[in-house]
Amino acid sequence: MIIDDQTYDLIIVGTGAGGGTLAAKLAPTGKKILILERGDFMPLEEQNRSNVDVFKRERYHAPEQWYDSAGEEFSPQMNYAVGGNTKIYGSVLMRFREQDFEAVNHQTGISPEWGVKYADFEPYYTEAEQLYKVHGQAGVDPTEPPHSHDYPFPAVDHDPQVEEIVGAIAQQELHPAPLPLGLTRQEEDPTNDSEVSGIRPAIDHPNVTLKTGAKVVCLHTNPSGQVVKGVEAEIDGQAYLFLSEIVVLSCGAVNSAALLLRSKSDRHPDGLANSSGLVGRNLMKSLMSVVVQLSTKPNSGSFPKTVCVNDFYWGDSDFPYPMGQIQNSGGLLTDIIFAEAPPMFSILAKFMPGFGLKQLATHSIGWWAQTADLPDPNNRVRVEGNKLAIDYTPNNAEAHDRLVYRWRETLKTIEKELDGFQRGFMHPSSEIPIQVMANQCGTCRFGEDPTASVLDLNCRTHDIDNLYVVDGSFFPSNASVSPALTIMANALRVGDHLIERLQ
Ligand SMILES: Cc1cc2nc3c(=O)[nH]c(=O)nc-3n(C[C@H](O)[C@H](O)[C@H](O)COP(=O)(O)OP(=O)(O)OC[C@H]3O[C@@H](n4cnc5c(N)ncnc54)[C@H](O)[C@@H]3O)c2cc1C
Repeated sequence: MIIDDQTYDLIIVGTGAGGGTLAAKLAPTGKKILILERGDFMPLEEQNRSNVDVFKRERYHAPEQWYDSAGEEFSPQMNYAVGGNTKIYGSVLMRFREQDFEAVNHQTGISPEWGVKYADFEPYYTEAEQLYKVHGQAGVDPTEPPHSHDYPFPAVDHDPQVEEIVGAIAQQELHPAPLPLGLTRQEEDPTNDSEVSGIRPAIDHPNVTLKTGAKVVCLHTNPSGQVVKGVEAEIDGQAYLFLSEIVVLSCGAVNSAALLLRSKSDRHPDGLANSSGLVGRNLMKSLMSVVVQLSTKPNSGSFPKTVCVNDFYWGDSDFPYPMGQIQNSGGLLTDIIFAEAPPMFSILAKFMPGFGLKQLATHSIGWWAQTADLPDPNNRVRVEGNKLAIDYTPNNAEAHDRLVYRWRETLKTIEKELDGFQRGFMHPSSEIPIQVMANQCGTCRFGEDPTASVLDLNCRTHDIDNLYVVDGSFFPSNASVSPALTIMANALRVGDHLIERLQ
């Protein structure tokens, strides 16, 4: 093993929403920071910018296989690159609702309260919205939590066909609201991500070094097992050891947990930072379905996602439990998660005989239905030798089914008013399979009790004084809005704590 001859003040592993954001926050401190990222910079043409070919979905999958509970291998939709999954995300950057930080009574159980509340997160949500140039409009969505500052940029206009539908939805006493989107405002590359707003500005600082193609395989502690001393990474097939005062993992909720489990030693026989036995457990990844509305009028197949409907977020008069969120897709040709739902395309083809799949995509409007799943210790990441296994059984399914049902009923009603939709049309929907790990979270939950959580409220592991985790692992519960802005805001929050500690 080659031992790097430098000692860093801080090493960050991973450059996605958590790691990239933290790097931007800490770079101006002048501290000696090393960032290790297993992927490389992603050429623009490979990013999810336009005309994503739904049939080339493997482009957005990790070059490795994971295993499900039955031992079947699958190719996870994980993007290993500078910027991580934010290089392919939809850039919908939405705050959790205030109540998401409290204990929430779901139909199938209670999702636990967070030790840090919305009021504590609020300044960091504002900071994250500024950093990622979020375009939005407060005050339209009835579930939107209070903002101390307006969105830094106005909301994006709807595509004309979506605009017409939005008007019809509003007639149903619903509250379609502009989706907050992180945008660079540059034409050739409009999506704002953690490479653009995190890593690039960070590495402009001379005290920050980024090593790409550096896959971290193990963390090493001192002999007493109380402090992480070295980070072992594979670079070009060679093992390297990097030494640091503080180590922050941000490999994504699955990979950070797997790395801790793989870093077991005599002092930590069940994995590092795992005295609670919770590392890898309580994996959540949201319940998601796509509902597709067929239109007789063509559209471009690629237009911005711009609208969400949160009227069913906390339930309705028939079902007094949270159901979740609806948002439009950015056209079937640009939304890569559609690539995961090929059965839906064959159902659609039945309704439009004679149409090729790409033509179908230009005669459709897609809608996402998303519902929070609940933490369950049996949903977990396991490592068996070199294998990484995911045990995941969806829960909270009735809430999700009701959301899909309510949305289909809404679409049926508004289509009567709209020109260009065939009356009585079915709306085929398709659930998202296990390989979609987009919203993974929860595998190193934070909390005050070391027996019931892996991280403390600053996202420092309870067991190891100089080891932190700032990706989606820290969530003690999931929400029905997507997680990226909350991960970014949390990284900024933890960043303030680390700045104090480094001083
Ligand atoms: C298709 C898609 C669309 C999405 N759309 C949205 C959206 O619109 N809004 C939203 O809020 N969320 C969205 N998400 C989810 C969002 O992208 C994630 O929640 C977020 O990126 C997670 O941040 P993270 O820091 O936890 O991990 P990631 O962003 O996954 O970053 C992890 C990083 O760690 C690196 N890494 C992993 N293992 C190692 C290792 N051993 N050594 C070194 N480096 C390592 C990876 O290469 C990666 O760069 C979407 C996700 C996908 C896949």
